[in-house]
Amino acid sequence: MKDLSGWGRYPRQIGAQTTAATPDEAATETTGSAGLIARGLGRSYGDAAIGRETTLSMTGLNRMQSFNPETGLLATEAGVSLDDIIACFLPRGYFPVVVPGTRFVTVGGMIASDIHGKNQHNDGTFGHHVAWLKLALPDGQVVCCAPHENAALFQATIGGMGLTGTILAAGFRLRPVSSGWIRQTTHAAKNLSEAIALLRQTEKATYTVAWIDVLARGASLGRSLILAGEHATEDDLPGGYKQFPPARTGRLGVPVELPGWVLNTASVSAFNALYYRRGAKRSGQTTLVPWDSYFFPLDSISNWNRIYGPRGFVQHQCVIPNEDAEQVMSTILDLLSSRGEGSFLAVLKCLGPGAGLMSFPRDGLTLALDLPVSEKGLGLLAEIDVLVAQAGGRIYLAKDACQSRATFSAGYPNIAAFRQVRQDIGVAGHMASKLSERLAL
Ligand SMILES: Cc1cc2nc3c(=O)[nH]c(=O)nc-3n(C[C@H](O)[C@H](O)[C@H](O)COP(=O)(O)OP(=O)(O)OC[C@H]3O[C@@H](n4cnc5c(N)ncnc54)[C@H](O)[C@@H]3O)c2cc1C
Repeated sequence: MKDLSGWGRYPRQIGAQTTAATPDEAATETTGSAGLIARGLGRSYGDAAIGRETTLSMTGLNRMQSFNPETGLLATEAGVSLDDIIACFLPRGYFPVVVPGTRFVTVGGMIASDIHGKNQHNDGTFGHHVAWLKLALPDGQVVCCAPHENAALFQATIGGMGLTGTILAAGFRLRPVSSGWIRQTTHAAKNLSEAIALLRQTEKATYTVAWIDVLARGASLGRSLILAGEHATEDDLPGGYKQFPPARTGRLGVPVELPGWVLNTASVSAFNALYYRRGAKRSGQTTLVPWDSYFFPLDSISNWNRIYGPRGFVQHQCVIPNEDAEQVMSTILDLLSSRGEGSFLAVLKCLGPGAGLMSFPRDGLTLALDLPVSEKGLGLLAEIDVLVAQAGGRIYLAKDACQSRATFSAGYPNIAAFRQVRQDIGVAGHMASKLSERLAL
């Protein structure tokens, strides 16, 4: 038995966990299972990677299988981490086409969540770059799925949160890059309207994302720093720059759970104001930033999820369709700032469609934020969920720990088709997580 939780450390459950070291072992564990879910590195925030009865750890499936330098197609087992992929392929001049905000995730986790990155508006989601995957089903079959082979199952598995079976291996594309540096241009936006306008203006950049100060109020509501990025070429690097710098490791850490009072409205507000002012001074400037600082800024602080104290935190990410995005985001920000519920890590971004039946991304504007677990915070999120549902938006399942069934079914119009695929392949009841039970998936 194990104390299981997601990265937000809420909710927690003591449950059975089994491990697999090979694809055959993972397929055997999946056969005849009842209430099983696969788990990667546990970087989903809520209850998605906690099995209803049993959780199957996949990190032992950590072998890379083949690579074609002409096409960039890499085949790996599902438990291979993004960290290992970058460490192995960046020095050879390749980088995954889509990465999330941490490199401590597995290939299986990225496919099951159909993760998106800072280039979602240009390059789509991780699922758009998956050429094939191998899936173990509870009836003992191992099936190969691809856009033109078992297409319905392929589409349901991308973004399907592990509920269609256990992904054993996959083939996906890397892009060629000529350095491990990003040319980052910072733009300061004084309020939400400016932030949205700047996000749209910078959409031609390969990567663009906004850090937003959710505690700023009045005329400064929604003030943001927009960070646009391009892969630097070798010629962009001054002498003495290492072309492919390795990841920085172990510089900072949070050794123990901090008491809940350390993060309060005053401390978060002061941090946000300072961060904004420092960034605004660089507005319009372009600097060279190493790949790990640009894509994975939090990875340099180990166990940063402990800063929210013993009760943990909830990460909340919604997407609002473009028509009403500014007005709804403004109402959400107003609610957060007037209640003094701040977040260090709020991010605003433009999104386009995802690759799977249940993918989170759709056309619209997305806001992601962290709130420490408290009655007040959870109550506020329930109010925000109502606004999201009324606007035709949705909440990201890989981050969710508390949305209601009503919010979920309002946001995901393909639920019926997804349930049908689960029925057709006989996984309903066999593959089940705490999330699928909560949302009646
Ligand atoms: C700091 C941070 C930043 C993040 N930034 C982003 C971001 O920018 N964009 C984004 O989209 N997401 C982001 N995420 C979320 C994260 O990318 C996803 O939750 C990802 O799925 C985690 O991968 P994992 O291997 O840890 O999977 P887990 O958390 O272990 O599992 C996540 C889901 O994948 C399923 N799964 C895992 N392995 C398999 C398998 N082999 N077969 C079938 N199903 C499987 C699980 O059942 C579960 O439903 C972020 C998370 C953190 C902590």
